[in-house]
Amino acid sequence: MPLFRSKARRGVKPHQVKLHVRKNDQVVVIAGKDKGKIGRVLQVFPRRQRVVVEGVNIVKRHMRPTPYAEGGIVEKPAPVHISNVMVVCPKCMRGVKIGRKILEDGTKVRVCKKCGEIIEAKE
Ligand SMILES: [Zn+2]
Repeated sequence: MPLFRSKARRGVKPHQVKLHVRKNDQVVVIAGKDKGKIGRVLQVFPRRQRVVVEGVNIVKRHMRPTPYAEGGIVEKPAPVHISNVMVVCPKCMRGVKIGRKILEDGTKVRVCKKCGEIIEAKE
C-alpha cells in the first residue's frame, strides 16, 4: 500500500493523524497566496496532513478530452498543509486554536480556545 509507505517515510505516527480540521469545517487560510480567504473543507488527507479547501489554492489542470469529460483547462482546489489553515469559530468569527474536551456523558468535542464554544463538524 503506497500510502502506508509514504507515511512511514515522513515519520507520521498513527497517533498523529488526528487533525484539528474536519470535513465541512469553515477555515481561514493564514499563510500563502490565499491568506485571509475563508472556505469550507472539502476533503481531508490525515496521513499527508493536508486539506482541500473550497476556493483556496486553485490550480489549473490541462485536461485531455475523454469519452466522459471534455478537455480544456479545469480550475480546481489543490490540497494545502493543515498548518496553513485555522478553524473559524462561529462565535468569535475568526480563526482560532482548537482544544479538546470530554463532556460529562463521555463524548469528545472540539472547543474554541478563546471562548470555549463547542465546534461541531457539520454534515
Ligand atoms: Zn470562539
